[in-house]
Amino acid sequence: MNILEEFDTIAAIATPYGTGGVGVIRISGAQAFEIIEKIFTNPHFEPRKFNHGWIKDGEIKIDEVLVLPFFAPNSYTGEHVVEIQCHGGINIVKNILNLVLKNGARMAEKGEFTKRAFLNKRMDLSQAEAVADIIHAATANFAKVSVKNLSGVLKEKINDIRNDIFEVLSRITAGIDFPEDVNEPEYSYLIERFENITSQINSVLSDANASNIMRQGISVAIVGKPNVGKSSLFNSLLSLDRAIVTDIAGTTRDVLKETLDLGVPVTLIDTAGIRESQDRVEEIGVEYSKQSLNEADVVLFVYDVSQGIQAEDKEILDLIQDKNYIKIANKCDLSIERKEDVVYISALTGEGVEDLKKTLTKKVCDIEPENLEFVTNSRQQVCLNRAKTALEQALLAAQVRELQDLISIDVKSAILALDEITGELITDDILDNIFDHFCIGK
Ligand code: GDP
Repeated sequence: MNILEEFDTIAAIATPYGTGGVGVIRISGAQAFEIIEKIFTNPHFEPRKFNHGWIKDGEIKIDEVLVLPFFAPNSYTGEHVVEIQCHGGINIVKNILNLVLKNGARMAEKGEFTKRAFLNKRMDLSQAEAVADIIHAATANFAKVSVKNLSGVLKEKINDIRNDIFEVLSRITAGIDFPEDVNEPEYSYLIERFENITSQINSVLSDANASNIMRQGISVAIVGKPNVGKSSLFNSLLSLDRAIVTDIAGTTRDVLKETLDLGVPVTLIDTAGIRESQDRVEEIGVEYSKQSLNEADVVLFVYDVSQGIQAEDKEILDLIQDKNYIKIANKCDLSIERKEDVVYISALTGEGVEDLKKTLTKKVCDIEPENLEFVTNSRQQVCLNRAKTALEQALLAAQVRELQDLISIDVKSAILALDEITGELITDDILDNIFDHFCIGK
C-alpha cells in the first residue's frame, strides 16, 4: 500500500469470526454513504446515532440492523464511516459484507482503518500502535497501561522532548545564520540542555524492560538432571499430559513450551535433563536446555529428594547461581526431608504443587510491575536509543567546545529519531510493517 494512494472505500467485519450476539461490519471512505443508501431501508439516517432498519439486497431482506454513521472528519478514520450492527451469525455478517463489497467497497487490508486514522492525522503513530497493543494485550494489566498511550501519554512526552531539542537547535541555527545579530548559545547552556534532555529520554526508557516483559510475558524454565521429575512437574503445572514421562533418563531431548496463565502470561519450558552425554541427540537437547536457562526470567530447579543433592545437581545449581530461581525437591512422597527455602512437591501425587504455583506467581508478579509510566515497544525503544546516542555525541562535542555547526548535526538526528516514534517521519515500509500486525477490520 502506498501512502499517496487515493483512498478508496474499504470494508471489513470488525467483530471476531464466530457466532455471537452482534456482528459489526465497518465501512470507511468517500463512498460509504452512497453504499449504505443502496442497501439500507432507512434513507434518512442521522450521523452519530443508531438508525434502525433492514439491510436489503434488492427486494430480499438480509438482516434487521442498526446503522451508525459518522461524517468525515469526525470518525475513527477521519473519513465517512458507517458501522452496521447486525445479528452475530458468521453467515449473516459475511452476507452483509459481500453486499457492501458488491456495491462498491473493497476488502480492507490488515490494520487499514487505523492506518487511515494515522494518515488522516486522527492519531499519531504511537497511538496507532497502542490500538494494536490493546487488542493483543495478553493480560488485563497490559491492556490498562496501553490505554495510556492511546490517550496520548507517550506522544505528549515525545513531543515535549522534541520541543526541548528543537529550542536548542533553533538557538544554535540562529547563532550560525545571523552571527551579527544573535550570539551563539553558551557551551554551558548546551551542556545543561543536552544532559537534561538525555535524562528525560532515560526516564521514558527506564520502563522499557518492564514494557517488554508485560508484552511478551515471562519465561520460566524447568531444569534439573535427568529423571528428577521435570516432565511430570511440567504436566502437573499445566494440568495436562504434554510431556512424555518415563523412568528412562534422557527421554526429553527437545525443549517443550506451553503457556501457563498465572494472571501474567508465563511460557513454561520443559528442558532436557542437563548432564554429560555421549548421545548426540541428547547432547543437542542439553545445549538447548542451557540456552533456555540463560533466556529464562525464572528457573525452577528440580532435584530428586529421595536421592538428595548430588554432584550433578550441584553443577546445575552453579549454572543458575545468578538467576532468579526456586529450588524444588520433587518426589517428596518418598522422603521425609523438609528444609527451609526449598519447595517440597510430589509431581506424582500433586502434593505441594499448588503451593509451588503460589510461590511462582509471587515471583512472576514481582517481575511484572503493576503500573508503568511509559509503555514502549521495541521499535520505539530503538528510536529513543538513537535519539539518546545522538544527544550524547552532541554533549561530548559541546564539552570540548566543538564548532556549533557540527554539534547541530547530532541535534538534528536526535529530532529525526523522535519523529519516527510519532510518525512525523516514516517510510512506507515501516508503516506497512507496523499495520501488518493488526487484524482485518481494525
Ligand atoms: P524428567 O526426566 O526429569 O523429566 O523426569 P520424568 O518426569 O520423566 O520422571 C522420571 C520418573 O520419575 C518417572 O518414572 C516418574 O513417574 C517418576 N516421578 C516423577 N515425579 C515423581 C514423584 O513426585 N514421586 C515419585 N515417586 N515418582 C515421580
